[in-house]
Amino acid sequence: MLSSVARMHTFLKDSGLRNFRHLGSLKRSDKLCHVLPTFLYINKSYTSAMADSSSLKQIACSTIENRKEELNQLSQKIWCNPELKYEEHQAHDLLTGFLEKERFKVERNHHLPTAFKAIYESGLGVTVAVICEYDALPEIGHACGHNLIAELGVAASLGIKAALEQSNSKLGKLVVLGTPAEEMGGGKIDLINAGAFSDIDIAMMAHPKAFDISRPIALANAIVTVRYRGRPAHASSLPWMGLNALDAAVMCYQGIACMRQQMKPTCRIHGIITNGGAAANVIPELTELEFMVRGPTVVEVEELKKKAIQCFEAAATMTGCTVELEWVPNAYANMVTNSTLISLYEENASKLGWHHHTEGKPELKTSGSTDMGNVSYVVPSIHPFFNIGTDVSNHSRVFTEVAGSPGAQPYTLRAAKALAMTALDVLSQPQLINRIKEDFQKDLETNSS
Ligand SMILES: [Zn+2]
Ligand SMILES: [Zn+2]
Repeated sequence: MLSSVARMHTFLKDSGLRNFRHLGSLKRSDKLCHVLPTFLYINKSYTSAMADSSSLKQIACSTIENRKEELNQLSQKIWCNPELKYEEHQAHDLLTGFLEKERFKVERNHHLPTAFKAIYESGLGVTVAVICEYDALPEIGHACGHNLIAELGVAASLGIKAALEQSNSKLGKLVVLGTPAEEMGGGKIDLINAGAFSDIDIAMMAHPKAFDISRPIALANAIVTVRYRGRPAHASSLPWMGLNALDAAVMCYQGIACMRQQMKPTCRIHGIITNGGAAANVIPELTELEFMVRGPTVVEVEELKKKAIQCFEAAATMTGCTVELEWVPNAYANMVTNSTLISLYEENASKLGWHHHTEGKPELKTSGSTDMGNVSYVVPSIHPFFNIGTDVSNHSRVFTEVAGSPGAQPYTLRAAKALAMTALDVLSQPQLINRIKEDFQKDLETNSS
């Protein structure tokens, strides 16, 4: 029998508020440049490293604020031209062109046609990766707000680079990674497999949502196509000659529905019938369903998959059909939020007048899934959610509108500032990386049991 660690590796290998009341604090955050010197004055005992880090943060925040018009144009262009997974050519060209003009060393088509890597190097030290996403959803455009993720990734990177350039010391390396196909693709998994994270120490991004949650629960997720094959026959004259693949699909769906009562509340399984037969007067010979099997860890998803497979196979047995299972290769791992790194982010957000509640309602903390989860198994990572002034769910047409509206901008820039400040903490205080990596090792052990 495989150990839980081995099962986790098998899984990874197979995978190849809502309101405007925050605006008051946003106005205060715009005054960060005035807040920080006061902060330094009050905290006289801070070390010179901390003082240096605070002035670097001030530079980063001012840079982001000064460039807000151009940054908004980037996300507007991406929003107006939504491109689906692995086809984000215009977004790729737009972002790489912008970063080249900003004198980053850019590698276009980094391992994938629509991925990129942009580097700014300032001596040997920690390597921080800021992640951009820019893919859209079919029919409803940027309903997940990835245009804003691209904008804030570039914004944070401009801020970090400006601070590194003006620092008296050589602090380390900034990598901006453009990662395509987050929606049902797993571009980051392709990039992990190609070695794109092998020289990265930490990775960070932030995601627009209807609420502020710094430590969301993003579930591990495996997707399967279930295919039943029966035998066609005239549905009225000789139905006993047929084997009904639609009956198999219905029994499968019902079996999964019954199984839900015995599932942990932290797990999810949901699906649709994508092919229910061709004609009402023909016993269906081929049907297909698609299911998503999700859980808090990859180990739990492996356990739930076994139970789901029993339901899939039982439906075939009951109807005399055959069943084929086709698991999508890029399965998503759960998000492992690095606690040291996210604590720094929360502290920095507080300095911007923006407070996170780490003990939120569990039903709100549980989200969908992201390929950033796979990154979080490879390098210490964070993936906080930030409210963009709405209470509507992602993947809706209203969210698309909000993600393209001017109202989302202050929230996006604030998240960019908090990310940049966090990166500068790690770059300017090298001792932090040891703590971050210790957390990372402990988290991997916890998640594999
Ligand atoms: Zn999404
Ligand atoms: Zn998304």
